Amino acid sequence: MDNFKNFLLLLWGAFFVFIIFQIISHFRYLQKLKKLKSTPLPQNLKKYIENLPQYQKLNEKQKRILEYKIQRFLLEKNFIPVNINLNDEIKTLIAFYACLPSIAYIDFCYPNLKNIYIYPHPVILKNLQNGYVVQEEEIIEGEATGENVIIAWDEAKKEIHHPNFRNVIIHEFAHQLDAADGVIDGIPPIETSKYNEWVKIMFGEYKKFKQKTLKNRFLGKFSLIDKYAATNEAEFFAVMSEYYFMKPQILKKHFPDIYKELKNFYKIEFI
Ligand SMILES: [Zn+2]
Repeated sequence: MDNFKNFLLLLWGAFFVFIIFQIISHFRYLQKLKKLKSTPLPQNLKKYIENLPQYQKLNEKQKRILEYKIQRFLLEKNFIPVNINLNDEIKTLIAFYACLPSIAYIDFCYPNLKNIYIYPHPVILKNLQNGYVVQEEEIIEGEATGENVIIAWDEAKKEIHHPNFRNVIIHEFAHQLDAADGVIDGIPPIETSKYNEWVKIMFGEYKKFKQKTLKNRFLGKFSLIDKYAATNEAEFFAVMSEYYFMKPQILKKHFPDIYKELKNFYKIEFI
């Protein structure tokens, strides 16, 4: 009996030490993050982002916030290369476009995201359910599934250095933001008071766009939007987010209501 009591005491002692250790580790980590907030991005990484148009349009305060978020992102996320040599350029550019959309939310660092898989080329995704292929294989440049994000680097790099409106990194991280309230439905975590307006504008424009693409004529201004946005409300939000960060003038001119909704959410603009 005494032996059992001793065993229980030992167990409680080990548990207590474990909890204390966890608290100290967490406290140390918070201190580390606090220090990072005043640490500029080292020049050997900054050189990859300082000439990007989105970085140049930030004010000094926004640059500090973004540089902190990039360093935290690099610290917390696992970058997993698949048949590609991982380097600082790849990591820094992915972190830049991942953190840019969440710049208004300084302490938000995609808490559910663990891994970023980087492939050299687009990936053939096989949709399996209980071992059966339930859908045709699809070729993807990126994918966001809660814990994991997939990026095809050659496409991402092309989009960064020869900017059009597409940006697979912004696209996938718009999905991650959309998922932050628990469901990927084209509604990111917005203030409750703005919910009805968001649904009316974003879903209303999505329905118009979908109807026009189904008829496949008289697209008018909707011909500016990649047809992939007609897939569903979540893809519409992700594609519109790419426009918002890559070609904001076009979005504002032709779709001012969508622009306004995205500005309310992202709380930053590049015009
Ligand atoms: Zn998507």
